[in-house]
Amino acid sequence: MSLRIVVTVKYVPDATGDRHFAEDLTVDRDDVDGLLSELDEYAVEQALQIKEEADDAEVTVLTVGPEDATDALRKALSMGADKAVHVEDDDLHGTDALGTSLVLAKALEHIGYDLVVSGMASTDGGMGVVPAMLAERLGVPQVTLLSELKVEDGKVTGRRDGDAASEQLEAALPAVVSVTDQSGEARYPSFKGIMAAKKKPVETLDLSDLGIEADEVGLDGAWTKVEEAAERPARTAGTIVKDEGNGGKQLAEFLAGQKFI
Ligand SMILES: Cc1cc2nc3c(=O)[nH]c(=O)nc-3n(C[C@H](O)[C@H](O)[C@H](O)COP(=O)(O)OP(=O)(O)OC[C@H]3O[C@@H](n4cnc5c(N)ncnc54)[C@H](O)[C@@H]3O)c2cc1C
Repeated sequence: MSLRIVVTVKYVPDATGDRHFAEDLTVDRDDVDGLLSELDEYAVEQALQIKEEADDAEVTVLTVGPEDATDALRKALSMGADKAVHVEDDDLHGTDALGTSLVLAKALEHIGYDLVVSGMASTDGGMGVVPAMLAERLGVPQVTLLSELKVEDGKVTGRRDGDAASEQLEAALPAVVSVTDQSGEARYPSFKGIMAAKKKPVETLDLSDLGIEADEVGLDGAWTKVEEAAERPARTAGTIVKDEGNGGKQLAEFLAGQKFI
């Protein structure tokens, strides 16, 4: 039977652009350009490599996000994924990590999966908790933060590099894994891949398709809330120390006058 790999990919505001909070202190996703979270490109790459090694495998990419999140799906399809699922619903506005993991888990049960591959963290929220929450909700093993992974004989094995040691981990499928930015460069989509992606299927689902009530997600269902946010102060001009034989003394005096946290 075909190995069903699902990669969770997030559409995030472009970090090189001007990012803001909206009036309700949620991230402004309407007035900024977005893209596939760079850290999720590594997850797509690993899924494609597993597919290439397997006799028979299929890669589905899954996102929970606004209408424009299809851009992230198309990018993953142009890299080589086979099909995509997009969960989109106005009631998702303000959903936190717990709510996101609920929606992803229900969508995964709808799609069917043997292996879920996630990024190590998103490049906007950056909490790095969704893969673990997802495994808990699905009741399957989690093998997180892998820099190398392989699927063989109904199990996933991988290496997690820590500060003091590298661990070899293993779990029976079905399982959720997350991969780090050390897992190998993500491929660039080829022109052929970009053209082929236009014809690949993208299924769109809303909350009712997944049996989720509006108050389980969104700001009402969120367990975390941003209470206050302030613009970062503009950078001030630096101090230039001109060394005329007493540079060291000047530096010491400058540092003595600074406040350090
Ligand atoms: C339309 C919309 C509005 C939102 N509004 C808010 C808000 O107001 N306040 C708030 O706290 N949160 C909000 N969220 C949720 C938030 O942006 C995060 O998706 C969620 O909190 C997960 O946290 P994270 O990004 O830090 O995930 P991490 O745990 O850092 O992500 C790890 C991995 O999980 C997967 N993943 C995470 N999010 C998604 C996703 N959406 N789709 C597919 N895969 C994913 C990716 O593989 C990612 O690499 C909103 C999300 C959406 C889609």
